[in-house]
This record gives sequence, C-alpha cells and structure tokens, in this order.
Amino acid sequence: MTDPDPSTRASSAASPRRAGGARDDDLHERLAALLDGVRDVGGGEVDDSVPQLAEADPGWLGVALARPDGSVTAAGDARQAFSIQSAVKPFLFALALADTDGAAIDAVGIEPTGEAFDAIKLEVGTGRPPNPMVNAGALLTAALVDGGDADGRAERILRGLVAFAGRELEVDDDVAGSEMLLGDRNHALAHLMRSEGTLHVGADDAVSAYARACAVLVDAEALAVMGATLALGGRNSVTGEQVVSAAIARDVVSVMATCGVYDGSGRWMREVGVPAKSSVSGALVLSVPGRLGAASYSPPLDPLGTSVRGAALMEGLSRELGLHSFDTERG
Ligand code: GLN
Repeated sequence: MTDPDPSTRASSAASPRRAGGARDDDLHERLAALLDGVRDVGGGEVDDSVPQLAEADPGWLGVALARPDGSVTAAGDARQAFSIQSAVKPFLFALALADTDGAAIDAVGIEPTGEAFDAIKLEVGTGRPPNPMVNAGALLTAALVDGGDADGRAERILRGLVAFAGRELEVDDDVAGSEMLLGDRNHALAHLMRSEGTLHVGADDAVSAYARACAVLVDAEALAVMGATLALGGRNSVTGEQVVSAAIARDVVSVMATCGVYDGSGRWMREVGVPAKSSVSGALVLSVPGRLGAASYSPPLDPLGTSVRGAALMEGLSRELGLHSFDTERG
C-alpha cells in the first residue's frame, strides 16, 4: 500500500532490526491517525529562551515508538531535528548513577518540587538539588559524570547519549553557546550549589557541560529509542548494548514518573499514566516499563513547559495502546 502523504510515512526501515510487515503498517496507521486527531489542538507558545528554539515551526508534529524487538515506528515529523533540552535529564541522571557506582542517588533529592524547572531553590537542610529532573539537579548530575573537565564530561555525556539512542548524535554548538550566554538562572543555581558545598566542579564548568548536553540534536525516532532503553532494563533494543544496569534504569524511570513533568507531573500521571520527561524544545520522551519507549515533538508549550499537542497525543496513545500504569481494569 502506498501512503499518499509522505509526511506520515512509516520509518521502521531506519531500524536495522525491524519487525516486519503487517503489524508495523498497522501501528503506523494508528500513529498517523493519532497525529491527525491532535493536529488542530491549539494553544501554547514556542519557547524563546534561546533564539534557536524560537525559530521552530509551531506546526511541526511527529511521534515515534520503539519496541523490544528493535523496531521503530514513526509518523509525521519524526525525523525533524531539535535540541534535546530537558529531555536529556533522565539520561544525565542514568550516566551519573553509572559513573558514581550509584552514589549520585544521595547527591540529589528525588522529591517533586511543585515549582518551575528553573526555580532557584535547593533542598532545605541538605543544600542538595530537589531532584534530577529540574535544572539544579541536572547541573549536578552533568557534573558527576566521568570526564575530568567540562570538555571531557561533555564528550562522555555525548557518547552516553549515543549509546542510549543507538546512533550517532551531535551537539549544536550555536545552541550550546546561547544556553551558556543566556542561562543566567543556571549560572545562579551552579553558584548556589557551590556555596552550599554540593557542587564540586567550577560553576562555569557545570553550566558548560549541562548546556552542551541540552544542545544535543535528536529527533523523535532517536528519543523514542532512548526512552525504550530506559524502559527495557537499560538495554538498547536496536543495538543490543547494555547501556546502564537494570537497577539504574528502574531508579531513573521511577523519578521520571514522579518529577518528569515538573509541577504538572500529577496531572500527567492521571491523564497519561506513563513515566515521561518534557522539554522546552517541545519534545516528550516516555518510558513504559518493560514495554516500549515513545517520543513526540511539537514545539508549542503550556505554561508548565509541556508540549500542548504532545500531551494530547500521548494521552491518546496511552489510551489506544493501554499504557496507563494505573489502569485498574487491565486483565
Ligand atoms: N536548556 C534549558 C534550560 O536549562 C532546558 C530547560 C527545559 O527544557 N525545561 O533552561
């Protein structure tokens, strides 16, 4: 069957270990139908914290799904590149846990904040970041990754993200430069953590490694595989590589469930019911434990920084595939 609309082409062929045939086509049709169902959902603003994000086309809309058999099924603008931004945070946490033999779990809190992602706030009493899904936490986890200096850590982070995605990725240096220049709140958080004794590298080093991590270019297909790697015990289903241990993957997915959508995490859990991470670029990455990874891309954001169409799409996907963690009627 030929697809009349090339923008909703199935892209399973991108995967070297795709599952074949009818099942994929069927899933592609279902994804394409879900996209069509949310295309007219309005509202939201494209982020303009750095000029490169402001240039995004508000109409871009893509989704991808990665399954344990290594297949990746996509629809819409699933190969449109964007900077990963905060969707990198679960993976930074995973790499920090791996590189510190788990000690990173005590370096950051794991409780939701009820505040914005860039709130200038540390845990009372300990001076730790509240959790690894807000900026303070991600600045610290980026600093805990092996590498000696900021360049070394940025390289280790990039290699780690490549392992999660199962394909080459690169840093957009312009985005990283803008993040470094305009990320005043991140600089403030790094200095605050220095003053509390919780950050052990220079403030500029921490912001630089984090800014470069946020500037890694991905697309919905790559992000879906990354989410699947966490969902499937830390093993990349496309390459077969064990990227992090199953215990680390479980820790990370647990914190995604409680803190991944910032102060919208409660509503997200009720409506979608899947551990996820949002990002100012308009991406969402989902890890459905033991089942699959998924990602969407649509730039307009609600006031909490969640993609408006992405959230509507993922609510539909969760319903369509029965992904809600707390579906009490599941057999
Ligand atoms: N780079 C952005 C920042 O640090 C990422 C934030 C986000 O995606 N929520 O502000």
